[in-house]
Amino acid sequence: GILESQAVWRQGEECLYGEKGKPLVEYRGVTKSFGDLEVIKGIDLQMHAGEKLAFIGPSGSGKTTLGRMLMTLERPTSGSLSIDGVPLWQMQDKKGRWKPANEAHLRAMREKVGMVFQHFNLFPHLTVERNVTLALTSVLGLTREDAGARAESMLEKVGLLDKLSSYPSQLSGGQKQRVAIARALVMRPKVVVFDEVTSALDPELVGEVLAVIKEIAKEGETAMMLITHEMDFAREVADRVIFGAEGLIVEEGTPEDIFERPQSERLRTFLNRLQ
Ligand code: ADP
Repeated sequence: GILESQAVWRQGEECLYGEKGKPLVEYRGVTKSFGDLEVIKGIDLQMHAGEKLAFIGPSGSGKTTLGRMLMTLERPTSGSLSIDGVPLWQMQDKKGRWKPANEAHLRAMREKVGMVFQHFNLFPHLTVERNVTLALTSVLGLTREDAGARAESMLEKVGLLDKLSSYPSQLSGGQKQRVAIARALVMRPKVVVFDEVTSALDPELVGEVLAVIKEIAKEGETAMMLITHEMDFAREVADRVIFGAEGLIVEEGTPEDIFERPQSERLRTFLNRLQ
């Protein structure tokens, strides 16, 4: 039989098997334009609970935009995007009629998603602890004490328990990024978007950040969308790798498929250029 935990996909189709038979995340015919520029040209993509998905491709191909759409930071121009089978941008009224999502709906959906950015985006005037607890108290309504306990255990995971009362300016880039990772994960989102999280770091700091992500990935529960230029990292962490170019998915498969048996000329060229 097919294991509950093992989703089976076919490109462009529903997730055939999986938790409740539904993908955790589903992009359906999603396009996105900025003015006249169409940067996402029709994406169908599903992610299952706990799945680690790496997104690779030339810069400008739309990877960040795809991640930002999941975080509701960008709205699709057409198509639909849903989490746990619930559309992000639409909601049903009491009579079951569809209408545009209101702010409360978007806020509720956003709680399922975390995002870590290239440039950390920590609050400079807040301590490490407060950076990590802020949304716990203000969004989830936890007490300071409960939030503090949750933050401490998360900061321990990223190796920064001793920096609780430091300010971001007192940290290295790698440490800042680990705080940003803790801040995203402490909310216990179902899926976290990691958008080029090592691109702004000095090369010697990249390893510590990737190591933390790998550790968290091992725990398994959180689905991850890893937008990355680090091919070794993608290969090690991802269950599935997606190669996109010019707003479309060109190829997808296991890390072995993508890195050892690339099918398209485009992917071969992309991988060769990196060597
Ligand atoms: P990638 O992450 O693959 O490098 P992006 O999603 O960042 O690609 O960008 C895709 C394209 O969309 C680029 O041409 C970029 O300049 C454009 N773009 C992204 N955001 C905006 C925006 N807010 N306004 C206008 N153009 C944008």
